[in-house]
Amino acid sequence: MKAVVIQNGADRQFVAVADLPEPTLAAPDDVLIRVLSVGLDGTDREIVRDRYGVLPDGAERMVIGHELFGVVERAGEAAGFSPGELVTALVRRPCGSDSCVPCGSGQQDYCVSGAYTERGIRGADGFLCEYVVEKARYVVPVPEACASYGVLVEPQSIVEKVWNEIGHIQKRVRWEPKTALVTGSGPLGILAAVTCRSLGLETHVWSMSGRASANADLVRRCGAHYHDAVDRKPADAGSSGRPNDPSGSGLDEYAAVHRIEPDVIWECSGHPPLAFESMKLLRPNGVLAILGVTSGNGRAEIPIAALNQEIVLKNKCIVGSVNASRADFETGIRRLQEIERQFPGLLAGIVTDRLAMEQVPDLDFSAIAVKAVVDVAARA
Ligand SMILES: [Zn+2]
Repeated sequence: MKAVVIQNGADRQFVAVADLPEPTLAAPDDVLIRVLSVGLDGTDREIVRDRYGVLPDGAERMVIGHELFGVVERAGEAAGFSPGELVTALVRRPCGSDSCVPCGSGQQDYCVSGAYTERGIRGADGFLCEYVVEKARYVVPVPEACASYGVLVEPQSIVEKVWNEIGHIQKRVRWEPKTALVTGSGPLGILAAVTCRSLGLETHVWSMSGRASANADLVRRCGAHYHDAVDRKPADAGSSGRPNDPSGSGLDEYAAVHRIEPDVIWECSGHPPLAFESMKLLRPNGVLAILGVTSGNGRAEIPIAALNQEIVLKNKCIVGSVNASRADFETGIRRLQEIERQFPGLLAGIVTDRLAMEQVPDLDFSAIAVKAVVDVAARA
């Protein structure tokens, strides 16, 4: 079968389309999945462009791709799946360490040993190939009604995990959130924004995408406010006037002018100074959730005394979040259905670039409008 792999080369890794043996059912709880499509995200960009993938021990190559949408081809007698069912799959697998309590209790998204594997990212073959075999406990059924946006279930699970965590944190107080701020308008930022809108929150998105971008258009389609970090009016500009200057993006001054006072902030830009700058904007008892991640070792000056006061005197909370559990996938499916009901067609609009497997090795990620999906096979 055809697969997109990252492979060890003479002096560095490279990405290629390879011919691999088709996997087969080996245990009663195995599910053989015919892959229909696989979404690409920032992690795939780092794997393809920056050779970020970690190959399994001793392996020469690894299949990439972790946002699976497929259909059950065959299933073992104890798997509980039937041929023809639409499915997606969890990404992370437990580390197997006796001392890792979260992995031992099925919460590998909270693994503490760091020795977890992630399909298509770290130490395990991914899904960007024609057929995948997976243990039933990691396979999540997707309803027929979600077929046109089933490939978004994995990224939505990330949003759901965060919203669930915020819910747990906010049990500390009677909390009636009204306003959300999302920084960044990539696929995750858009899903966070439309999720907030589906919950009835006034939602603001601060982004570098540009007001004429497809990203901004999707943000506005769900009734969220798009705020352009690129061409702010000089009066709104930050201390430096340059959005990328770590000494100040200008977000706080902009928010003051426009009276944006969020109860919750979703940092999806991967620009760390924004996260800390935005703390100041939170209403008392608010939560800042950081989803965006930046590689490298960027540095910025942070007003730590002011930050300390904000956090302590106003009960503010910062939470970081990665990966997601089965429950988050299941909630994500229900949420996507609700979003589709409230904003018909918006979800399908997030997928702007449809590709073939052969296009992935040389893919220019910077040319993707919002989100790219690789079509592996047609359904019928
Ligand atoms: Zn673990």
